[in-house]
Amino acid sequence: MPHDCSFLADLDLAGDASTGDSDLETRAGDWGTPDERRVRPDAVVWPASTADVSAVLAAATERGVPVTPYAAGTGLEGSATPVRGGISLDMTGMDAILDVWPEDLQIDVEPGVVGSAVDDAVARHGLFFPPLPSSGEFSTVGGMIATDASGMRTVKYGEVADWVLELEAVLADGSVITAGSKAAKTSSGYNLKELVVGSEGTLAVVTRATLRLAGIPEQIRAGRALFPTLDDATAAVADAVTSGVDVATIELLDRTASRMANAYSGTDLPDAPTVFLEFHADHGVDEEIAFCRSILESHDGERFELANDEREMADLWQARKDLAYAVDSWDPNLRPLHPGDVTVPISRYAEIVGYAKELAAERDLLVPCFGHAGDGNVHYTVLVDPADPAHVAVGEETYAAVVRRAIELGGTATGEHGIGMGKREYLVAEHGEASVEAMRAVKRALDPTDTLNPGKVFPETIDGGRVREER
Ligand SMILES: Cc1cc2nc3c(=O)[nH]c(=O)nc-3n(C[C@H](O)[C@H](O)[C@H](O)COP(=O)(O)OP(=O)(O)OC[C@H]3O[C@@H](n4cnc5c(N)ncnc54)[C@H](O)[C@@H]3O)c2cc1C
Repeated sequence: MPHDCSFLADLDLAGDASTGDSDLETRAGDWGTPDERRVRPDAVVWPASTADVSAVLAAATERGVPVTPYAAGTGLEGSATPVRGGISLDMTGMDAILDVWPEDLQIDVEPGVVGSAVDDAVARHGLFFPPLPSSGEFSTVGGMIATDASGMRTVKYGEVADWVLELEAVLADGSVITAGSKAAKTSSGYNLKELVVGSEGTLAVVTRATLRLAGIPEQIRAGRALFPTLDDATAAVADAVTSGVDVATIELLDRTASRMANAYSGTDLPDAPTVFLEFHADHGVDEEIAFCRSILESHDGERFELANDEREMADLWQARKDLAYAVDSWDPNLRPLHPGDVTVPISRYAEIVGYAKELAAERDLLVPCFGHAGDGNVHYTVLVDPADPAHVAVGEETYAAVVRRAIELGGTATGEHGIGMGKREYLVAEHGEASVEAMRAVKRALDPTDTLNPGKVFPETIDGGRVREER
């Protein structure tokens, strides 16, 4: 049932609001929302300030109107899809760089700032924001904080959560909180900052963030190694990580993913499991590379080639970054199911990748595997013929089997994309009923009327303080 959002006209907002068809349609889903699950909001609001966010949330909560934060819409689990309608709160207008403090390695930004704009703003100080996801050139800081995103350099630098110092955020009742501290460390009170990070807009709307920065390393070198088998490649990655090689990126591409990258990006990656690496250091990078080379070679790493220059290095990473599009456009008759994002302890990495490939072979399915291997992360998908329900069913079951196995191996259903709509059924299997009940209690305490992004994270949702089954 549509929600009456006419109250927005009385709020005297500095930002804009719209009920125009194309504005509603654009925010009916994110990158990962299949057509059949798109839901239009009843109104879109572009707040211009924290006061706007506060006014909208207080008024919406009073009237029982859902509010779902929306940013660049690049999420892969439907987290920004307004499944109960109501207001889509588009944060992209709040995109100011507020302050830079190079002496403290800090920057203050509004949440709608695109990730790479942070790098652009601090490059002249010799600084950068290390945990940017592969989508950093088009996704926002607010979206990254809300999903606790991470990227290709997480193996060295950690995830977004590790680089957020302080947040300003608005709760469902309109109250404004500051969480965390600009100090390098704090033991003061409950850690509300960590609660908001990764909460996918279900607990609070982030309106300002203080981010930590790092110095751009003096030496950056990249290269790739080829392996005769996928097992050799995954074992080499695990060995390099546990041996303490100081590597900033280790990405894996299986044969299928390499073929797809070649077809889409025009690269000429060899038809072999490939590991891409990047090394960051202020000195001694050659010694680190030599150490890494010896480990890779002990796993039959056939050829370990360093990129000759920055251009070659950029081409290497572009092919990796374009993989999501490469998978999508591989075969017009096949549709990739949801992008998988499981992550396991590094010692189990070979098992999870091997399991996905084993199922693919047994069931005659195309399952490209790639990802941030150094973190134990594997992105995979299953390509299915949408016109063949049996094919879709076996694809869905294969996708789910890999998630279940990752959890059994002590891993997680989602290393970086979040739970959103797509992974809700795994929450209890991963955390246990008591932990999920504690999460529900937090949600009820901060948002008792389930205003903020209802229908996400929990297998059921919280409505008026009661738990309501959705499935
Ligand atoms: C090609 C491609 C590559 C990708 N690579 C990576 C990767 O390497 N690593 C990775 O982690 N992800 C990756 N992603 C997924 C996606 O880009 C990230 O999840 C990103 O952080 C989402 O940001 P966004 O601005 O698009 O947010 P949206 O998708 O618009 O929203 C995501 C979530 O954040 C909430 N939200 C947005 N703004 C706020 C706010 N101000 N306050 C509170 N909640 C808010 C929304 O309600 C929603 O729950 C990739 C996606 C694509 C399409």
